[in-house]
Amino acid sequence: MPPRPPRPAARAGSWGGTVKPAPFRYEKPRSVEQALALLAAEDEEPKVLAGGQSLVPLMNFRLARPSLLVDINGLAELSYIRREGSRLRIGALTRHAVLEESPLVERHWPLLTEAVRLVGHPQIRNAGTIGGSLAHADPTAELPVALAALDAGFVVRSRSGARELHWSEFFVGQLQTSLQPDELLVETVVPALPAGTGCRFDEFTRRHGDFALGGCAVTVSLDPDGACTRAAIALLGAAPTPIRAARAEAELVGRPVTAESAARSAARAVQDLDPTSDLHASGEYRRDLIESLVARSLLTARGRAREGVPA
Ligand SMILES: Cc1cc2nc3c(=O)[nH]c(=O)nc-3n(C[C@H](O)[C@H](O)[C@H](O)COP(=O)(O)OP(=O)(O)OC[C@H]3O[C@@H](n4cnc5c(N)ncnc54)[C@H](O)[C@@H]3O)c2cc1C
Repeated sequence: MPPRPPRPAARAGSWGGTVKPAPFRYEKPRSVEQALALLAAEDEEPKVLAGGQSLVPLMNFRLARPSLLVDINGLAELSYIRREGSRLRIGALTRHAVLEESPLVERHWPLLTEAVRLVGHPQIRNAGTIGGSLAHADPTAELPVALAALDAGFVVRSRSGARELHWSEFFVGQLQTSLQPDELLVETVVPALPAGTGCRFDEFTRRHGDFALGGCAVTVSLDPDGACTRAAIALLGAAPTPIRAARAEAELVGRPVTAESAARSAARAVQDLDPTSDLHASGEYRRDLIESLVARSLLTARGRAREGVPA
């Protein structure tokens, strides 16, 4: 057997070397103000590092090549869940696992609890953050869709001030948000749901913990006579961003939710959809899947609203 050729010497920052990502600088600010100053001062491509669950793999494949990483993991001031008035406020650095375990969220915003339990595996939920999931803007991520159904807003800060964006202004395309390079997402704000509301988050994955092929987040509010006063239907994997099925929602209002009206509304929700076809599923399959999930979820949400499961 011929002798093996010698291995090339490892060079940091190159393929085959000891470091997989392209070279970058790294800063760990001690306050939000310091983080904002670092982002504002960088004239190449700064990136915020939160849980690293999406960013680090992208950097390792060199699909992301930030010039500067601003590591916000030391900013405890961005990690909280609290209720102010009727609204829920979630700091951007809150881990998925903390949201999952929050009794406040489970009692009053159970849609979020149901959704976050479906994010990846426990290891991902221990490290990944709510802000990271939103800023990453994957159209098959659970939390953006649940927050779209809940009409959430996002507070974004830069050195020049703060702005609050409705979810529909925040998500602009696949893996794209309206965040500017010098902006930090600091908080998610979720309005309260009316009394008599039931919710359901449902999705289909090939294997437990995988990204879903399709899914939906649904809320149904009923008056004391059982008529629907408000409905929200947000779709996962149906388009480059989370979307709401406004016409399907409107058709439910003013009458009881029945198996027939849920099926009609689900058909309406997917009527104009053209989901992506890829090696995991065809667009047609995804549309049929989402239709079934919406019909089923509307009935589950109606049942929960009737039972008085707190919204
Ligand atoms: C094996 C595996 C399975 C997964 N399965 C799922 C799943 O089923 N469902 C799902 O939703 N996700 C899934 N994920 C992704 C996971 O939820 C990530 O945690 C999440 O998408 C990103 O959160 P992060 O805190 O890790 O963000 P990072 O990876 O640190 O950052 C992601 C992006 O957001 C930006 N960013 C982060 N925080 C901020 C901020 N505060 N302000 C501005 N920009 C910010 C970063 O610059 C980067 O562009 C999975 C990941 C892995 C590795």
